[in-house]
Amino acid sequence: MSSVPARVAEVVERHPERIAIVADDRRIRYDEFWRESVCFARALRAHGLQPGERVAILLPNRIEAAVACYGCWLAGGIAVPLNVQARARDFQAWLRHAEARHVVHEYSHNDVVDAIAAVDASSGHPPMRRWPVGADRPLCAPAGDDAPEIVRDASDIDADRVAMILYTSGTTGAPKGVTLTHGNLLANAGAVIDYLQLDPDDSVLSILAFYYAYGASVLHTHLLSGACIVLAQNLLFPHLLMDTIVRERITGFSGVPSTFALLLERVKLGDYDLSSLRYLTQAGGPMGPTLTQRLRAALPGARLFVMYGQTEATSRLTWLPPERLDEKLGSVGIPIGGVSLRIVREHGGDADTGEDGEVWVRGANVMRGYWNNPESSAAVLRDGWLRTGDMGHLDDDGYLWLVGRRSDMIKTGAHRVHPVDVEEVIAEVPGVAEVAVVGVDDDVLGQVIKAFVVAPGLPPRSDNLIKAHCRERLASYKIPRDIAFVSALPRTASGKVRRAALLEPDPIP
Ligand code: ATP
Repeated sequence: MSSVPARVAEVVERHPERIAIVADDRRIRYDEFWRESVCFARALRAHGLQPGERVAILLPNRIEAAVACYGCWLAGGIAVPLNVQARARDFQAWLRHAEARHVVHEYSHNDVVDAIAAVDASSGHPPMRRWPVGADRPLCAPAGDDAPEIVRDASDIDADRVAMILYTSGTTGAPKGVTLTHGNLLANAGAVIDYLQLDPDDSVLSILAFYYAYGASVLHTHLLSGACIVLAQNLLFPHLLMDTIVRERITGFSGVPSTFALLLERVKLGDYDLSSLRYLTQAGGPMGPTLTQRLRAALPGARLFVMYGQTEATSRLTWLPPERLDEKLGSVGIPIGGVSLRIVREHGGDADTGEDGEVWVRGANVMRGYWNNPESSAAVLRDGWLRTGDMGHLDDDGYLWLVGRRSDMIKTGAHRVHPVDVEEVIAEVPGVAEVAVVGVDDDVLGQVIKAFVVAPGLPPRSDNLIKAHCRERLASYKIPRDIAFVSALPRTASGKVRRAALLEPDPIP
């Protein structure tokens, strides 16, 4: 069988009564999860979904987000999970670019409702079908036991068929929607299940929403293993997360570096019986050696898996075997099963051991390209290799050490931000003549956003004015933490802003 839903269908047949997902006070068994997914698949088909049509999913980390995704696949659609923290302008760009025909969203999410109306008004297509979800509005209420037919349908899903589009950039230029096939998802999940040695007795606590490649990977790997996924919305009440670990006898916990930094800062882990924790996974950005060691000291019974990856590779590229963490502290490890990796010099050719270059990767988990965006696809896909934009080297044992990024992409917490998306919005403020945005190193979030603004005519304290404008137009994680007013921006001879120069101690003469 060649797709995640087909394999999960087998799990459902094997362990129908086991708990699949827990969220708030709801516990849903595998058979119930499947029946709800089938119910949604039938409803989509009844409303005219054609194979390959896009179903946008705009939900936070909740059971319906998983049901919407599997229901979409069973109906033959392509799932487009969108970051719900974005604002109307991003939603419009993504819905338009994906040409979504169906949208699953929270009933009261006004930005989404506005974006749907705006896209419908200008698309020339029939209106998108809306599937609002709320506390007393389930996505689909199954009637009768009609799952078997669709279980059979799942086995027909072809590995080459597109399963999912994940947007990694906003509105500037043509959006970049990472296009992943069912084969990509299965390759990624198979490798992860292997090294984490997941089994049906595992129970993972996930605060990562499924619209991140990392969150999606946690969901599918655990469903494929017949394990249980316990969902938590965020880190606002860390002691409640600890209570959940104790109560549910959680065996696995996944986070980005800021997740672990915040937990260690806000909770006395020793006050809780966390002995059930078997594995911790860290990815999404570099975690400093001090934080890594503090985490290990606080949870000595859990194996810590440092991992590196990218949405373009369905999430995972390398992992560091926990037994070698001390010896290789700071490395992101070795390629996952099925991935080949090389380090390429700036002007071509393979780098020597220990020499820095760009990380290129190949494998069954690598995307086929960006949705409807051949130019951006051609820029990163070369002769079957994906150029990651990350810089690093391999040591004598074949372990990868990352040293930075070739591209301007900023990683803040779990979020990926393109400077131009923020610059465009700041440039809208009257009086702003020029703007450049960079990521500045931060102990907790990895990077935070800083804007350099040239605005000779603006009054003092205009940073508040600019931030207020950003709040109206951008997701909260894209709002610059600092704004520096400068007389000019450093530029190359051809006039391009030298963003790297802005990170130097005295960027402006
Ligand atoms: P992952 O796939 O590792 O979970 P992600 O889901 O956060 O990461 P993206 O949002 O696409 O994926 O971000 C990928 C980028 O994040 C990489 O290209 C790299 O720059 C950075 N990154 C991811 N993991 C690590 C790591 N362990 N150390 C350093 N940088 C990392």
